Amino acid sequence: MATINKNYDKLAAGYLFPEIGKRRDAFLKSNPHLKLGDIMKLGVGDTSEPLTHTIIKGLHLGVDKLASKDTYTGYGTEQGDKRLRQALADRYGKRGVKLEFEEIFVSDGAKPDSANIQSIFSKDSVVAVQDPAYPVYVDSNVIAGRTKAFVNGKYEGLVYMPCTVDKGFFPDLPNKKVDLIYLCSPNNPTGAVATKDQLRVFIDYARLTQAVIIFDAAYSAYISDPELPRSIYEVEGAKECAIEISSFSKDAGFTGVRLGWTVVPKTIITAGEDPNKLNSLWNRRQTTMFNGASNIVQEGGLAAMLEIGQRECQGVVDYYMENARIIKWTLEKMGFKVFGGLNAPYLWVKLPNGMKSWEFFDKLLSEAHVLCTPGVGFGPSGEGYVRFSAFGHREDIEKAAKSIRDNLRL
Ligand code: PLP
Repeated sequence: MATINKNYDKLAAGYLFPEIGKRRDAFLKSNPHLKLGDIMKLGVGDTSEPLTHTIIKGLHLGVDKLASKDTYTGYGTEQGDKRLRQALADRYGKRGVKLEFEEIFVSDGAKPDSANIQSIFSKDSVVAVQDPAYPVYVDSNVIAGRTKAFVNGKYEGLVYMPCTVDKGFFPDLPNKKVDLIYLCSPNNPTGAVATKDQLRVFIDYARLTQAVIIFDAAYSAYISDPELPRSIYEVEGAKECAIEISSFSKDAGFTGVRLGWTVVPKTIITAGEDPNKLNSLWNRRQTTMFNGASNIVQEGGLAAMLEIGQRECQGVVDYYMENARIIKWTLEKMGFKVFGGLNAPYLWVKLPNGMKSWEFFDKLLSEAHVLCTPGVGFGPSGEGYVRFSAFGHREDIEKAAKSIRDNLRL
């Protein structure tokens, strides 16, 4: 008799994005003069601009190679094309971070890696997450059985690290001993970027207690301030305690193409094990449960890593950051307190007069026909905030900004 994994039943109902879709559809139903296309999206973190010329050439090369007997390849190595792993290692090298290519595992994206990485740690690991946070860190640990019930917006057994305005949206150390710590910088949803000093506090803690930090750097390309670290390994000691997960989604536009990577240094210390152990466990996990990223896509990734590819990707990042500037300027002019959006594609907006996240979401939708993302959907400390995203075509961003300016009644 098959029984199900009951942990799925613990997942909080009304996952954020389906709930947003439900409210949008209900609004359209009660306003039949409006069409779906009349609703302007400033909520989602999906890219909108086409792939760059060099990347398209790389993807074509990948396809063409499959058309001939001499260059056809079937299954690749589960860890990824060595050329791509080396190119990534070289890029870290340019920022002073020495990594061997065997420490880098290419994958089909940062989200699956963030969800799967917990499987190499023991079930009784105590997990700490930033609050608010990108939901997969929490949900993957709920499914793995590391939490109890969901009560008052929190899972029992999970350690929440509030990221509040007074702390610049970066958390203090957890208030009890934990084993795994998820950090994300530049942060989704707050747009805050951790400084080296802020990361150092966590690295020191992790080294002292043999905890492991899982660092999500999916938005690192959005950092333009040279003082801010793009990788946790730019801070000394991180290679002893941190796994880094990253992606081609947000700078190369691979949200639909799918390509990411995870760095598991051979020097991470875990209780009672050789330093090499985590690297070999992740290798085992990937070789057992993953058959490698698409060969076509990896050619596209290699093209993105070329100097010209990087320059083109930077152009796309700059485009989105100009969108961020337009939204930030519009909202600030209206009197909103706006955070983020300087080294990150997200703006984290404090709502006036104690307004709740979903209350503002409904108001913005009905008055300006614009969608945002309610902050509380990322965790209880997100209440009273909403997230705006800079991913979108310029003309849509400008139209949405104008509609907010003209129609939102504060
Ligand atoms: N990590 C963070 C913090 C994200 O916000 C997202 C997507 O929005 C991802 C990872 C997903 O990355 P990928 O497309 O590589 O799975």
